[in-house]
Amino acid sequence: MELLAAIGRVAATAIHNAQLFEREKTLLREREEFVSLVAHELKNPLAAIMGYHQIATRRLRPHDDGLRRPLRVIAEQTERLNRLVEDLLDLSRVDAGRLSLERKPVGLALLIRETVDQQQVQTAFHRLEVKIIPPLPPIVADKMRIGQVLQNLLANAIKYSPNDGMIEIRASEWLADDGRWPAHVCHLASRHERWAVVEVQDHGLGIAPIDLPKVFGRFFRAEKTIEEQIPGAGLGLSICAELIHVHGGLIWVESTLGEGSTFAFALPAQETGEGG
Ligand code: ADP
Repeated sequence: MELLAAIGRVAATAIHNAQLFEREKTLLREREEFVSLVAHELKNPLAAIMGYHQIATRRLRPHDDGLRRPLRVIAEQTERLNRLVEDLLDLSRVDAGRLSLERKPVGLALLIRETVDQQQVQTAFHRLEVKIIPPLPPIVADKMRIGQVLQNLLANAIKYSPNDGMIEIRASEWLADDGRWPAHVCHLASRHERWAVVEVQDHGLGIAPIDLPKVFGRFFRAEKTIEEQIPGAGLGLSICAELIHVHGGLIWVESTLGEGSTFAFALPAQETGEGG
């Protein structure tokens, strides 16, 4: 009798847990549906603002100089809102397990150069210097998503370096037993023999040791960033981490407050006969 009662209790707990799990899944699905509905409702007016902004910019006359700055601000702020909406959509997709990847062989060197060029035109003060050591190992990944990660890291390097314009982007092959892996990542590197590693180094604000473990968390913003009143929502890096993890990769940061930060990610090399 006792044994049966014990089995009954265990079974009841299991059923309860399964019900909770189902409810959680339903809630996540409902949240994703809600976020995507709101996101699409926001995107339409944003697209209209951008459209009218372009028309207004085209119609500017030489003596309309006073309007150029307000129009630039409209473009920047609309772009920020757009980014925020996209980030919220990505996060809800991740939570609902609906982030789909289009994995194909990716020319990483070209992707780096293209993304750096896009970011370089956004800033006159910063100099983005690319150092790629060939040959990079072949990788199979979602090009758009890896570009998004890189773009985020570059945009952050620019945003959080108000006083020093030098930003270096390095890419090379690292082996599992490479001496360059930082201590807290080293034990994970043995998962694959060869990796493609991309690093983005800035000489900006840097991050305090107490904040370092939290930077990839959702909505986290470092103390220093808030003090300096640099705008942001604390979402970009958490999305980067999700995107790199779904690729089986690693992402990390090393930083010294007041000296700068190096954000890096590693993607496993495609082994012969693996993937397509
Ligand atoms: P956001 O930049 O929108 O706040 P992120 O998720 O991209 O969000 O970054 C989270 C936080 O990590 C930032 O608010 C900032 O405090 C810190 N951070 C990110 N990148 C850097 C960097 N290159 N230098 C210094 N701090 C950074």
